[in-house]
Amino acid sequence: MSAETKLRELVCYLAKSLFDRGHTHGSTGNISARVPDGGLLVSPTGSSFGRLDPGRLSRFDESGRHIGGDKPTKEMPLHAAFYDTRSQAGAVVHLHSCHAVAWSMMPDVDEDDFLPPLTPYGIMQLGRVKLLPYFRPGDPAIGEAVRGLAGKRTAVMLANHGPVVAGKDVEAACNAIEELEATARLAILTCACGARRLKGAEIQDVVTTFNVEWEA
Ligand code: ZN
Repeated sequence: MSAETKLRELVCYLAKSLFDRGHTHGSTGNISARVPDGGLLVSPTGSSFGRLDPGRLSRFDESGRHIGGDKPTKEMPLHAAFYDTRSQAGAVVHLHSCHAVAWSMMPDVDEDDFLPPLTPYGIMQLGRVKLLPYFRPGDPAIGEAVRGLAGKRTAVMLANHGPVVAGKDVEAACNAIEELEATARLAILTCACGARRLKGAEIQDVVTTFNVEWEA
């Protein structure tokens, strides 16, 4: 089996796993992954994470030309913005995960540091998460907003919409976006009771020990 065939199957397997556990629903969410020749595989527009077909993923060549498969997600400018600004990105995932979306609607959420420091894993896997304002889905301005971050963030939250995470490969990106959703869930579960958060020195220890990108 070729590396690309394996990657096509892995993308669909991971997407279905996210769908089956309720992390995105209906035809929401989109996913892309870099193939060894420098091109991209992208989930088609209107497709469901529960039923992606490895043979119908949109295929782009290294220059960004659509060369096969179904028409890509309308959020392609968002994915392209991550690949263009983060050379280390091997995959990008976007979900409509319930707790992250709910947390984005809360008053007084820190736009520059969307997730509160509740566990070390959110910090290790996501760095500092930027909350971007609300945009209409598919608005090319979303891609422009990501470009404005100049590759300094691996994860962003689109307000009233959903998270977007880039990773070195598709498994890393999926693991990280699950961590974002899990941390948002903890934030909602604990926000009313004044739960203990990690302190500055504890955060810095994680950042230093695990070499986290922690853009100020
Ligand atoms: Zn969306």
